[in-house]
Amino acid sequence: MSTVTDTPSTDAKIAKKHVTEAGNYFVANYPPFSFWQKEQVFAVEKLLDSPAPHDIPLGVYMHIPFCRKRCHFCYFRVYTDKNASEIRAYIHAATTEFERYAKRPYLAGRKPKFVYFGGGTPSYLSVPQLQELTNRMKELMPWDEAEEVAFEAEPGTLNEKKLEALREIGVTRLSLGVEHFDDHILESNGRAHRSGEVARAYNFARGLGFEHINIDLIAGMMNDTTELWRAAVAKAITMQPDCVTIYQMEVPYNTGIYKQMQTEGKETAPVADWETKREWVSYAFDEFEKVGYTVTSAYTVVKDPNKIKFVYRDALWDGADLLPIGVASFGHLGGIHLQNQADIVPYIETIERGESAIFRAYATSPDERFVREFILKMKLGSVKPSYYKNKFGEDVMTRFASQLGWMRDEGFASLGNDEIKLTREGLLQIDRLLHEFFMPHHRSARYT
Ligand code: SF4
Repeated sequence: MSTVTDTPSTDAKIAKKHVTEAGNYFVANYPPFSFWQKEQVFAVEKLLDSPAPHDIPLGVYMHIPFCRKRCHFCYFRVYTDKNASEIRAYIHAATTEFERYAKRPYLAGRKPKFVYFGGGTPSYLSVPQLQELTNRMKELMPWDEAEEVAFEAEPGTLNEKKLEALREIGVTRLSLGVEHFDDHILESNGRAHRSGEVARAYNFARGLGFEHINIDLIAGMMNDTTELWRAAVAKAITMQPDCVTIYQMEVPYNTGIYKQMQTEGKETAPVADWETKREWVSYAFDEFEKVGYTVTSAYTVVKDPNKIKFVYRDALWDGADLLPIGVASFGHLGGIHLQNQADIVPYIETIERGESAIFRAYATSPDERFVREFILKMKLGSVKPSYYKNKFGEDVMTRFASQLGWMRDEGFASLGNDEIKLTREGLLQIDRLLHEFFMPHHRSARYT
C-alpha cells in the first residue's frame, strides 16, 4: 500500500467564487475515463471466461440513446432522428449483446440485484418496444431477485398506459427528469417537456403506486434567477417526491452551450457562477429539511431514508459488477472498467458481425479500487476510516493526511473519532475537492 501524501493543488485552494467555464465538474468514476484504453479490452474477455464469483452483486445497465430533442446542456450521445425500424434494430442489437454476455462463464446463472435503464430517454420507447426489450432481458437473466429496477423518464414521453406498462415490467424506481418548473427556462435550455407535462406524469405515477419516485432538478440552467429557483424548490416540495436529485449545471465541451460559446468567442458559460449554484442547492437542502427530508448526499434529499434506498448507486460505489449493454454504455466487471462503442451505427454493425462492442477498458489495481471507493463515498457526506481499514487495509487518515487536514482548516470537513464528515460547504463542492484525492498521475487529465 502506498503511503504517499500529496499537497492540495493551487486550483483547489483558489476558486471560491468563479464563473462557470467549459469542462467537466462531476466526478462519475475513477480512474478518469481518459485513462481507459482499447489495449485493455482483452482483460475483460479473459475475465468473462473465468468462473462466476459468489460474492459480488451484479447489476445490469441498459442504455437507451434516444430523445425527443437535444437539450442545450446535454453531453450524452443521443439521437433525436431515429425511426421505429432503427429503434427496433437497436433493441435487437442490445438484446443480442446481452444474450452473448449471459452465456459467458463469468455471468452465466447469475441474477441481477439491480437493473438500471438510463439514457438518453428510456421512456422514449413505445410500450411494445419496452415489452419486447424487457421480456427478452428477463428470459436471459431473470429479475425475480432484483431489489431495484430503476428507470429514467422524460415527463413529456409518459402517459398513463406507458406508466402502467412500466409498473407491470417491474420498475420500482421511477426517475423523472424535471430539471425546472419554469417553462421559459425549460424552453430556452432546449428541454422537450413543459411544466404541465411534469404535473400530469407525476400524478399518474403517484396514482399507480410506484414505490420510489425521484425528480431531478438542475441548479443554474440558463436564465435561472434566485426567485425562479426558489419557486421551483417550493413547487418540488408540494409534490412530495420520495427523493430529489439536484445537479449543479456544468458545461462540458460537447454541449450545445459550449458550441455557442465558441461561436461567440466566449470563455464564460451563460449560466450562474459556482458560488450562486451552491447557494441555490443549499437553499433547496434547507427548504427540504424544514419539511422533514434528509440530505443523503451532495446531490440528494430523501423523504424517508429508512425506506428509500438507491441500490444502483450504493452497490456500484461498493464495487459491485455492472454489466453495460448498449451504445456508449459503461460498467465495471471484476474490477475492470469497460465502455462500449460510442456511435450507434458502428455499435449495431459490430454486434451484427458477432464481435464484442467493448471499445475501451481499464483494469484497476487494488489501490485504485480503494481510492475509487473512498472518493465516491465522500459524496455521501460522511465516511468511516475503519471501513477502509477493514476492506482495503488502508489508513485513510495517514494516506490523505495532507488533503484532509487542508479540508478541515478550510471548513470543508470535520475529522472526528472514526468519522470524516463534510460540512455543507464541503459537500456542495465535493466534486471539485475530490480531484485532490486522485493519484498524482491521474490529476492532470482532463476529466472526460
Ligand atoms: S433528455 Fe437527457 S439525455 Fe436527452 S438530450 Fe436532454 S439531457 Fe440529454
